This record gives sequence, C-alpha cells and structure tokens, in this order.
Amino acid sequence: MDGQELLSRVARQSDETEFYTPMPAGYKPGKTRYVIVVGTVMSGLGKGIFSSSLAKLMQDRGLVVSPIKLEGYLNIDSGTLNPFRHGEVFVLDDGMETDMDLGTYERMLDKNLTRDNFATSGQIFTRVLERERRGGYLGRDVQWIPHVTGEVKARIRELAVRSGADVVFVEIGGTVGDYENSYYIEAMRELAFEEGPNSTIWVALTYVMQPPALGEQKSKAAQLGIKRLMEAGVQPAVIACRCETPVTEKVREKISLYTNVPMARVFSMHDCKSIYEIPQMIRKAGLDAEAVRLLELEPRTDAAKSERFWTQWQGYVEGIRNVNESDREVVIGITGKYTALRDSYASIIKALEHAGVHYGVRVEIRWIDTSDLDDTPGKAKDVARALEGVHGIIVPGGFGARGSEGKIACIHYARENGLPYLGICFGFQMAVLEFARNVCGLPGAYSSELEKRVDGDAVIDILPEQKRIEGLGGNMRLGGRDIELKPGTMAHEMFGRQATFRMRFRHRYEVDPRYIETLESHGMVFSGKAPDQPIMQILELPGHPYFIGTQAHPCLTSRPLRPQPMFMGLVRTSAERAGVPVAEQAVGS
Ligand code: GLN
Repeated sequence: MDGQELLSRVARQSDETEFYTPMPAGYKPGKTRYVIVVGTVMSGLGKGIFSSSLAKLMQDRGLVVSPIKLEGYLNIDSGTLNPFRHGEVFVLDDGMETDMDLGTYERMLDKNLTRDNFATSGQIFTRVLERERRGGYLGRDVQWIPHVTGEVKARIRELAVRSGADVVFVEIGGTVGDYENSYYIEAMRELAFEEGPNSTIWVALTYVMQPPALGEQKSKAAQLGIKRLMEAGVQPAVIACRCETPVTEKVREKISLYTNVPMARVFSMHDCKSIYEIPQMIRKAGLDAEAVRLLELEPRTDAAKSERFWTQWQGYVEGIRNVNESDREVVIGITGKYTALRDSYASIIKALEHAGVHYGVRVEIRWIDTSDLDDTPGKAKDVARALEGVHGIIVPGGFGARGSEGKIACIHYARENGLPYLGICFGFQMAVLEFARNVCGLPGAYSSELEKRVDGDAVIDILPEQKRIEGLGGNMRLGGRDIELKPGTMAHEMFGRQATFRMRFRHRYEVDPRYIETLESHGMVFSGKAPDQPIMQILELPGHPYFIGTQAHPCLTSRPLRPQPMFMGLVRTSAERAGVPVAEQAVGS
C-alpha cells in the first residue's frame, strides 16, 4: 500500500479504523508538496530564515508557496507574550498576533500572510477539545495519536486548500527532543507517508560547534541531533549546518556519512552579514534546484522572469553591502524599555535597513534608555546629552509607564530642535501628550493607560463607545485598517496622494476626540483618520523638518524592495540633518 492508497483509505473514516485523518473539503491529494523544517541541537538557529529563503527561491520560479509556523506553546496566539522573552509580536493584516518569524516570511516573500499561516498547540488543542464536546470522535477515546496529530495534519491541509500553494513550508518550532513539539514531528511524519513519495522533503537545521579552545569544527552534537530525528522515523533530505564559519568539507562528509544525506545536500549555512544573503547561499549550493528535483516540481514561469526577480534581489543584497561599507552614516535613536533585546524591535530595525539601502546610507541605531530622563527644566541638559549625535529619533510602540516621561522629554527636544521624529503607536500618543502639555497649555495632560487620576486631562484614553462601534470582542484594535488621508498634508504627499493608505494596528488607547480641536488649533495636524470614526491615526507638525506619528505600526509592512514611506521620510530627513547626501538606489526597479 503506497501513500496515495493510504490517503484514500484513511479518508473514509469509521469507528472501526485506527486511522484518523480528517480531509478538508477541496483537498486534492498529490497536488501540494511539503517542505518540513525542523531544528536540532538548539533553537534560535534560523529555521524561519532558511525556510523563507528556500520558499523565496521557489516563488521566484513561479511556484505558489505558503509557510506555516507550528508553535509548541499553549497560548492561542502571541498576543500575551512578553517581547523581551519572545521577540516582537508580529501582527498580520487579519489581526492575528504572531511570532516574529512570520515577519521574516512576509519580508522575504513580499506577501501578506493570514491566521492560516500560524498554529500553536493552544489552537490545536482547542480544536480537539471542541470536537470532542461535539461528539466528533465517534465514540473513541481521544488520543495524541491519531487524534491530536490528525488535527495538525488537518490544519496543514486546510492551508494547502485555502492558499492554493504548490509548496507548503512547515516550520516546526523548538528543536527535536522537546516534549512540546514532538507531536508536530509525529504528525508531519504521518503526513509525509500519507502523501506518498516525492511529496515531502524534510530539512534538518543543525549546529556545527566551533569551540575557540579547540580551534576546529566539531560535528558530534549535529550527528546526535539528527540521529534523534531519525529515531522519530524521519529521514532528512537536506541538512543545513549553521556555523560561525563555512563548514569544512571534512565535517560535511562526516555528517553525510552518519545521516544518509548526500554531500550535495549537506549545506553550510554559515554566518553572514545579512539574512538576505541566505537565498544566494542556497542558490550557489544548488540546493533549491535539488529541492525542486526531489519534489518533482516544474517551474511555472519563464527563465527570464525568474532571472529578473533574482537580479532585483541581488541588487538589494548588493545595496546592503554598499551601505555597510559606506561612510554615509545616519544615527537614529530609538527609545525603549526593551533596549536589551534587539528581537523586540525586529521590524523597526528591518524597516530602517530597507529605507537606508534605498537611500544608500548606513543607519546606525542608538538605543536610548529613557528611564532616568524626564521633562522638568532641570533635566533638559541630560536629555540633550542623551540625544547628542543623534540625527533622528523613533519612539516605538510600548505598554506601560516605565520611561514614558523620558520619552516625552525626548519628543519635546525633537520638536523644539528640528530633530526628525517618528512616533509609532505609543510614540504617537506620547507626542500628543507632549504637545498638549507644552503647546496647548494643558500641563495635566496624561494617558489613562499610565496613570489613574481624577484631575488633569486624559487626552489619551480608552474609549469604549468607539470600541462598540468597531464591534470588537476584545478591546484591542488589531490588524490592517485603511486610513483616510487629508489632502494637502505631508502624509498625503508621502503616500502618493491616495485617498487612503493601509497600515496595521495594535492598540487600546487613542486621542480623546474632545481634545482634537484644541490640538489642531495650536498647530498639530491630524493628517490620517479612521474613515468613519473620529479616531486619529496620523499626526504631523507643519514647519518642522519631519515630525510625524502614527497610531499604526508602519514597520510591519516595510519590505526590502518596498520600504515604508514613513521610514523613508525619517531616514531622508535625518540624513539631511547629518549632512549626508542621499542617493536613491535602483533597488526594486
Ligand atoms: N499601550 C498603547 C495602547 O494600548 C500603545 C500600544 C502600542 O504601542 N502597540 O494604546
């Protein structure tokens, strides 16, 4: 019985069978191929980077690709996770709060993803338990195998149907040997068997150690890690070896010998300056061609078109190299609570890189700890010192009071000294407070998120009546929304004079509409609003070289070949302040 036969057999469910493989409506066995990426030895090696790079190369061949990340944790989504521990929460257009890896996929593939592309154990178990309550298991005791694994397979096949993908990339979180991820590996092993030969390839990402004391590469941990995967019944087709330096022939031979993987598919994925170089490394090693061959896939586009995509991408990678070697440097200060972990600001860092490459300048990030700063006149010197040598500043999204007075002080300085400013979500709200306090004569302006008060002006507040209009279950405003742009403003100009522009949101608080008139009469322009409600979404200050804020997160939709305009504006005006000439690079043209 081969995989195809099995598939048709298990598709007929009855209470007699040991199989449990729910098939989503419209699923065509044999149509979709699967690339399953698992990690061994340790996590954090860049499974998402490898997977998205290979997916990009397949997409360049005209194939439709769709990734899915399988998270082991029991949370339903990433919304409640602390970015300090888990990296930023990446919000998709449909409002799903996901792991930062989804950001890597969206940027690499230049494609919006949906909640279908993100699964957690919490989601899987919810479905199992709901189905059990509905009596969906035909009198059976509900077990890890086949029921929980069956639910995982169903999720993957649903994605295949809805995305119409030629190739689904399944990235399993964590590493082989984690309890919480083992059932995902088992589910994918079953799926690979059911789908039959040439339907699936497994990629094992592993780590080749290079202890400084020994001065040579060691493959033992990698061998043991892959062995563990093989014990689970999985034969990898490709092994991607992470290492600080190119993995030697000898070490690759050893790994090949112990794992039944030919040398051509033992790939050295050594450190490089930018993750955007990985597609080049994969292509050079011929790995994408190998993957396509193993999966018996035909390209869907002509070679000239593929080549054009490739040239564009290389142009971008070249651009990164050029700016990294360039002395045209612009320093952007980012204030933030999570200054210790760059992962919590991954999208902002990437968006700055995209804009920097576009203008041919190297963006140097300076982290500014604002916890010891505030806006009292006595502290003005400290603020000026903290911002010395900074050509532009970002106050990013955030929750909570820590450092907020210091952020307001930095914004005050930026506004009065013509320092380019971009306020993102929380940074938008803080800019409104600063302006209300120091320009509109409302010294008691505050945000009710940060302080509970009976006096003063809650200029930033939670507005339940607006939430009701929005009809949201929870009280967080989440996901992509169109923003109505005010003609004649900088934002309108920046977004190509379109009537609306779409960005992604994740916030609870906003400007209380009762203060809009006061703020506007003192010179703040709200250049972007929600189309049918008085929710302010973009602000700007005419007369300032660049002072802009948005209640949205523009960083989430910046792409290498399509930098986000608000970041482009910040980088361009900051370069002007730095006296650095900007050149528009021919990337993406
Ligand atoms: N804490 C603020 C709010 O909930 C800002 C949120 C954010 O920056 N993402 O409105």
